[in-house]
Amino acid sequence: MEQIVNYIDGAFTQPLSKSWLDNYNPSTGEVYSKIANSNAQDIAKAYEAAEKAFPSWSNTTIDERSRILLKIASLIETNLVDLAEAEAKDNGKPLSLAMTIDIPRAASNFRFFAQAITQFASEAHESVGLNSMNFTLRHPIGVVGCISPWNLPLYLFTWKIAPAIAAGNTVVAKPSEVTPMTASLLGKIISEAGLPKGVLNIVHGTGSSAGQAIIEHPNIKAISFTGGTKTGEHIARTAAPMFKKLSLELGGKNPNLIFADCDYETMLETTVKSSFANQGQICLCGSRIFVEESMYEQFKKDFIEKVSQLKVGDPFNAETNLGAIVSQPHLEKIQSYIKIAEKEGGKILFGGKRVTVANLEKGYYLQPTVIEVQDNQCRVNQEEIFGPVVTIMPFKTEAEALKMANGVQYGLSATLWTNNLDRTMRLSKQIQSGIVWVNTWLNRDLRTPFGGMKNSGVGREGGFEALRFFTEPKNVCIKYNNQ
Ligand code: NAD
Repeated sequence: MEQIVNYIDGAFTQPLSKSWLDNYNPSTGEVYSKIANSNAQDIAKAYEAAEKAFPSWSNTTIDERSRILLKIASLIETNLVDLAEAEAKDNGKPLSLAMTIDIPRAASNFRFFAQAITQFASEAHESVGLNSMNFTLRHPIGVVGCISPWNLPLYLFTWKIAPAIAAGNTVVAKPSEVTPMTASLLGKIISEAGLPKGVLNIVHGTGSSAGQAIIEHPNIKAISFTGGTKTGEHIARTAAPMFKKLSLELGGKNPNLIFADCDYETMLETTVKSSFANQGQICLCGSRIFVEESMYEQFKKDFIEKVSQLKVGDPFNAETNLGAIVSQPHLEKIQSYIKIAEKEGGKILFGGKRVTVANLEKGYYLQPTVIEVQDNQCRVNQEEIFGPVVTIMPFKTEAEALKMANGVQYGLSATLWTNNLDRTMRLSKQIQSGIVWVNTWLNRDLRTPFGGMKNSGVGREGGFEALRFFTEPKNVCIKYNNQ
């Protein structure tokens, strides 16, 4: 059986423990490869390689770093089909999605930061009248840790790594143990692109072993993490006493506010996507849908009709809209929330059941599920489910809609459907989330700040924000003699 091994100091290496984890194909429910179950010793080796590579990489010209990152981007594109197939198999997402979103975006991450670093400048402040001049140096931090989740595996792995290495850091990175395959293929690509050995070290394994060793390592001074809020809280507790720099991109429970004055057809089509793309396993999916009362019944009917047309099936079938849920435990978690909804008095308007796909009977398939709820305080509206489950409920006034949108512990993104400019401005200012989309969803410009408020995270990535995170600013103040 194929083994997914670590990539440390430019070489593929077995885990020191000689221990392995099972890697499941969620569309078949079968183990199809073995993953290195790395421990603190593997992380120590990865750290040493990264530390050794740092002096030279941090002094490599911007032009040269940029050239290598562009080469990585091109090689990802050259390998688009192989990477997309690997992603669909490892994660259960439709191949069409991996081909059009995940893998192209991984290439864009490298291309974007290859260019952004050439434009990344620092500030100068002249202290007029005091005969002194300040300028800011932005040093790379050193060895940094990047830890990513399973929902958009290569997309989010590279979202961290690209700015980290563009800024001159060297990296110890761990993809999710649930979806390690494309990160492992990236090892081959970076070596072909000529990234010097030790600049990027990819270590596989569980969060509690390999991940924990990264966050506990005393000399890994910055951690960029994307994953669940609970894990983020644990990372913050562990890293804070060591004064590590942290960027935490965490969970969400994003509201969709739909007003009667919106463009109905565009809203309807986009809302189906924002509810169920990637089986609802995107942190930015709109899982709470609030609809203005005057159009609620119409929306309910049309939405359910559209949802009922979605095809759940083999990720490799071009007709498939929803592939498999990522794992058996995650499927069970989602199903448990559907039960909770019923107990809480929620009405399942569509779905809620496991789907058996012919020839893939052991795969983890679930119907897209729409639940009508009475109260925003119910658990299915307050807790992140992270699956193909959305709730809908009506609202009477803009104030009520805003109160419900903000009435959760999360604050990652929100989507607003209206053609009223005044309302757009009022709500955009008052909604508590890191991103507000108006009449669109998942519309991303990589220059923009990305991240969440409240329990959805700390800090921002994207554009220069990411380059600022991965550098340490130092002010130099020079006093001069004006005579
Ligand atoms: P998770 O928190 O279980 O795992 C994320 C990563 O952290 C994995 O690589 C895991 O191995 C590692 N990890 C776990 N315990 C660790 C520890 N003690 N120390 C160090 N690393 C550890 O999350 P998941 O289930 O993989 O991903 C789903 C979650 O990610 C959802 O909550 C989703 O909303 C969130 N997410 C957020 C964003 C965002 O940008 N805000 C994007 C995608 C996903």
